Amino acid sequence: MILKKHILFLCFILITENVFSGEIAFTFDDAPTNNSSVMSGTERSEAIITALKQSKINDVLFFVTSKNINAEGRKRLDRYAKSGFHIANHTHSHRSANQMAPREFMLDVYQAHLVLKEYDNVLPYFRFPYLHYGSSEVAISFIQESLSELGYRNGYVTIDNFDWYINSALNKAKKSGKKIEYKKLEQLYVSVIWSGIKFYDDLAKKVLNRSPKHILLLHENDTSALFLPALVKHIRDNGWSIISPQEAYTDPIANKLPNTLFHKQGRIAALAHEAGVKVENLRHPSENEKYLDSLLEQSGVFK
Ligand SMILES: [Zn+2]
Repeated sequence: MILKKHILFLCFILITENVFSGEIAFTFDDAPTNNSSVMSGTERSEAIITALKQSKINDVLFFVTSKNINAEGRKRLDRYAKSGFHIANHTHSHRSANQMAPREFMLDVYQAHLVLKEYDNVLPYFRFPYLHYGSSEVAISFIQESLSELGYRNGYVTIDNFDWYINSALNKAKKSGKKIEYKKLEQLYVSVIWSGIKFYDDLAKKVLNRSPKHILLLHENDTSALFLPALVKHIRDNGWSIISPQEAYTDPIANKLPNTLFHKQGRIAALAHEAGVKVENLRHPSENEKYLDSLLEQSGVFK
């Protein structure tokens, strides 16, 4: 009888561990992006909305680069709003805070702030282009204080990756008339993004002793539009849940900016750097153009 109880208890622990593998929210940067050689901007937005709806994902955040908003872009942002999704500030012109005077950078933020004021599905989050927070401690503090004065919270990511590079390789192949093996490319994409998720989650478990509520960085690009359903399925098949960005930003790691100048690989990497982990150990091998080029070559996705 006692043995039976122990076995039941063990089963309970195993099942619970499997159920609570991880939580992750989706965010898409640089919206609304231009037409590409693969699809028009409108087609891209519609594909992303359909993928999110079919995957039963109720909310995501689109970080908007406001200089991209033309008449067609405006319609796409309205479509996201009507579909129940939110938008947030990613500056007006997408310039790096590391290469501008802090005041000049804040003017760029403010320009986007004024444009986004007209939308009613805006959330007060700010994401730095290139995840560049400023080139010095003084610059970082000035920008952080100015953002809070404007009412912004930090729209950090916990999982960085090079989805933008896979997207640009796809567009280059399409433009040069190559045949694209979409199924193979989908498998490569899912495996690369998933290995990034695992990498930063393992790092978090070492630094925080727990798995935080994660925020995945993707872009509003063709690879998101094409491969989102497969990516979502893979994440869920591994026992993870998809949560809203608003919920993800309630994690205690949202409360304090890590005390480091190293922010460009996301918040987990910044926390690990603050705790003394060396920079070379804070980036997954797939966050590298040469690595991805040889992976694309080996997989024979473009012919
Ligand atoms: Zn961006």
